[in-house]
This record gives sequence, C-alpha cells and structure tokens, in this order.
Amino acid sequence: MTLKEMEKICPICGKPNNCQHGQGNCWCENVSIPEYILDLVPEDKKGKVCICKDCINKYTKE
Ligand SMILES: [Zn+2]
Ligand SMILES: [Zn+2]
Repeated sequence: MTLKEMEKICPICGKPNNCQHGQGNCWCENVSIPEYILDLVPEDKKGKVCICKDCINKYTKE
C-alpha cells in the first residue's frame, strides 16, 4: 500500500476516512481530536493519517 492510499484509510477502523488532504481544506483540520482518540492511532500514522468521522463520534465521550 502506498502512503497516498494509506492516508485515505482510517487508522482505527480501516474504512475510508474521506480525507481531502492535498485537494484543499480537509474537514479534519477544523476539528480538534481529543488526546485519548489520537492515542488509538499507531505511532507511525500519527499526524499523517486522518481518523474518520465515525470513529471520532464513536470514541468522543460526552
Ligand atoms: Zn474510523
Ligand atoms: Zn484529513
């Protein structure tokens, strides 16, 4: 898998994350993701691969 392909896949659930990186503004740039969700992302993908909205909703505590 190339890095470009990997960037389109959510590192937590493995589904497409709809990341728009490189094509303009990605929705993820305007969302603050809690530290404990970022901790679920493997070290080598942190800050590179977007988490999908489903996972953010699923793991965000009220
Ligand atoms: Zn996900
Ligand atoms: Zn993104």
